[in-house]
Amino acid sequence: MKRYEDEIKFYQLERLAKKEMKMQVRVLDKKEWRNLVLADPKIPRSYSQVRRLAKMIYDRKVRKTFLPFKRKWPKFGVLNPWWEECAESVYSLLNMGLQNPFLNANQRQAIESDIDADMPTFEHTKDTTHFTLHWTDSSADASDNISDDAIINDTGDYLEIAWDKYNSVFGRAPYVPSGSTEIDVYFYDLSTAIGATSQEGGIDLDASWWNNTPGVRQPTSAHELFHRLQYEFGYRRLHTPSGNYKWFSEGTASWSEVFVWNRVSLDYKMHEVFNTPDTSLLTASYKALPFWIFFDTRQRDDPNDIPLVRMLQEYEIDGDIVRSANDTIFDDWPPNNVYNQLDSLFALFSRERRIGSWEQTPTGGHPYRNILDSDDNVISPTLQILDVNISFGDTYSVTTTVNPLASDYYNFILDPNTAGKTIAISVDGSSVGDFSFYIILEKDGRFKKAIYPWFSEEDYGYSETIDLDFANALIQIVSGRMNGGTYTLTTTVT
Ligand SMILES: [Zn+2]
Repeated sequence: MKRYEDEIKFYQLERLAKKEMKMQVRVLDKKEWRNLVLADPKIPRSYSQVRRLAKMIYDRKVRKTFLPFKRKWPKFGVLNPWWEECAESVYSLLNMGLQNPFLNANQRQAIESDIDADMPTFEHTKDTTHFTLHWTDSSADASDNISDDAIINDTGDYLEIAWDKYNSVFGRAPYVPSGSTEIDVYFYDLSTAIGATSQEGGIDLDASWWNNTPGVRQPTSAHELFHRLQYEFGYRRLHTPSGNYKWFSEGTASWSEVFVWNRVSLDYKMHEVFNTPDTSLLTASYKALPFWIFFDTRQRDDPNDIPLVRMLQEYEIDGDIVRSANDTIFDDWPPNNVYNQLDSLFALFSRERRIGSWEQTPTGGHPYRNILDSDDNVISPTLQILDVNISFGDTYSVTTTVNPLASDYYNFILDPNTAGKTIAISVDGSSVGDFSFYIILEKDGRFKKAIYPWFSEEDYGYSETIDLDFANALIQIVSGRMNGGTYTLTTTVT
């Protein structure tokens, strides 16, 4: 009897092989192909769609239009909306499009010539234990070239350090393409991204970023390799992701940058959920990073207990990200603990973003103190919070919407004339929405007390007599649970 693996047909892209670049495609049978394209509508399913995507990724003129305006991430500048720091999803979409059994030989040749046309020849190689690095210093386009061999040697070391850490902590090695014994790494001008990888391809790293921004070499190499650990745990290999999955795939790959190196390639992904706390975790992609740091640190029972390991083990079962997160969280907390599910744990994250202990372990440890950006500066995210000065006799009222797994913050600064009076807050949440509420009392910006009414998911009311000696500000946090929704918040002092 033939084993299933024997039936799998791969073909190598021969023109690229002549340039020392390995790229292989598994051609599916018609039924497998049908199931694949049903799983994600973004997979290019016709010859013209595949060809368009191949040109977007590999045609030098086309892909240059995807560059951010500057090589360095502009802190407050305008970005090309199509640019992404990591092209794992688009490279994977192209590879999936090539798995189409209806493409004929001529069509495959035409697509391959698009991929091949601007690809330089990789005349140099270096072998490490688990990787073969390929580069050129003689491409006609200078942006492909790496002339300093030390950059290659260092990157080989960085990849091996990440490989060892993943292998020992997660108990599995990153996925190696079928038929290979090592992972091939290519340096050229990607333009579309700093790095990319795909299941049956290598790891591709942008030569210009590598030359010009040394601070990305460690985090981006760890990030791309972490995608290959995700493949090992079934991501793409067993489960075709669709919809909002990048908060998992890119969010945890961004977490791996911090996990291995305590630094990130680009600092926007540390700032966004603080600058714009109404960003939904589910659409945050890379910017979900601080939540995964919180998920990791807050649920660590000891320094060797890494909750992301369990998260990937759960993901492997069925590819359901929310269920995997929920089950990981449920098993980590004592029975009946109020934080033992994703949306409640998110409410705790909303509190900790204000208090500042979002990256602390339960025993006060800081495994990731002083996370660095690509210029070696410590990243210090600042939470944007709405200040509302409130006096005796005032009523503050607002009707607004909070996103799923996102938070609104109201900082009621209590006037001296509110001493001994009563502050009353009521939240009227939409019946089709769901919410978590948190109150923090502060004295001169210092934490005094927090209140979590974990039983309230739609409407909420709170009142107390103001004691300015104890607290002179009250922060109301409204977070969306899995739905979020519209709510009216009314605060009075009488
Ligand atoms: Zn990525």
